[in-house]
Amino acid sequence: MATRCVHSGTHLDPSTGGVCSPVFASTAYAFPNPANRNFYPRYFNTPNQQVVAEKTAALEHGEAALVFGSGMAAISTLLFTSLKPGDHALFQTDLYGGTFLLVQELARLGIQVSFARTSAEVSAGLRPETRVVYVETPSNPLLRIIDLEAISRICRNHGILSIADNTFATPINQNPLLLGIDVVVHSATKYLNGHSDLNAGIVVSSSEIIGRIAPYAMNHGGMLDAHACHLLERGMKTLTLRIRQHNENAATLARFLTNHAAVASVNYPGLPHHPDHALASRQMRGFGGMLSFELRDPQRVDSTLAALRLVTPALSLGGVESLVCIPSRTSHKGLTPAERHHAGISDGLIRVSAGIEDVEDLQADFTRALEANLK
Ligand SMILES: *Cc1c(COP(=O)(O)O)cnc(C)c1O
Repeated sequence: MATRCVHSGTHLDPSTGGVCSPVFASTAYAFPNPANRNFYPRYFNTPNQQVVAEKTAALEHGEAALVFGSGMAAISTLLFTSLKPGDHALFQTDLYGGTFLLVQELARLGIQVSFARTSAEVSAGLRPETRVVYVETPSNPLLRIIDLEAISRICRNHGILSIADNTFATPINQNPLLLGIDVVVHSATKYLNGHSDLNAGIVVSSSEIIGRIAPYAMNHGGMLDAHACHLLERGMKTLTLRIRQHNENAATLARFLTNHAAVASVNYPGLPHHPDHALASRQMRGFGGMLSFELRDPQRVDSTLAALRLVTPALSLGGVESLVCIPSRTSHKGLTPAERHHAGISDGLIRVSAGIEDVEDLQADFTRALEANLK
């Protein structure tokens, strides 16, 4: 995987022998040209877009990929091209907030939507019109794991397109396509880029499925420009190294928080007591950089976050710097208190995106911030 991160897709420049892909900034390309292709960024076919697409396809063990201007551009294009009015789509209950809002939009356009929490619920929730099953694992913010092999089996038996959002896991920790899932989507804004400085999204699948989506993607216009592709390519070269450190820091923080008197519970799939630990151990190579924990005293969330000096309270995730957020106030603010309670998201829940800093420094920061809770 580390070799693919560094080398896959690189566009070598024969005129100089430079080891990095040049940036092809043009939006106008002479036609006819030696390649006899009508290059145009919005056609998703310019060299820097191809570089990132090839690298991601190699990492996800797919045949082809499309690179979009954001995770939501990737997800919306994929869903709008896979569904039509009257169809039914089944979504995992714990969805990324933006995807959840998009699902409301699908419903407004006459697409039937419903939700399921487990593969058994997916099985029970199928309808004759079901065309898409869409899951995210690990889920946000409780890090629940859904059985990708079971989902893909159900979908194959019924000719349904299975989609997995692999943003939290990354291709280093999990490859849904190898477990039989048809399509993987990424918010490359997060771990793939890894430096919290651009928005991007990627769809990876077979050449056939990508070939089906591509003509619509051109019309929807959500591509990524060459300079951002170049930055994303650069970020992805260190993905394996970064993910190793994210995994290690999250695991260390999860154990540390489990033993802290101010903490009621910790959600991390790598912990033996996590409800889906056995499943996570089966389908993941690493448990990821995301965790969440609940304070014993929910009244203390503000003072706890305010006392952190190194870790920044911020939305988003997957960058080299550690971030924390309060899901009940951010990603899940739109739910009623009853809905949040049903989803298992308490007011004292804190989500952590473990960065790649020295973990001793992170532990010291959390120790200081949690100490106030014990007074
Ligand atoms: C951030 C995120 C998205 C949306 O990606 P954007 O790049 O913000 O459009 C989708 N899914 C998951 C799991 C995410 O974390």
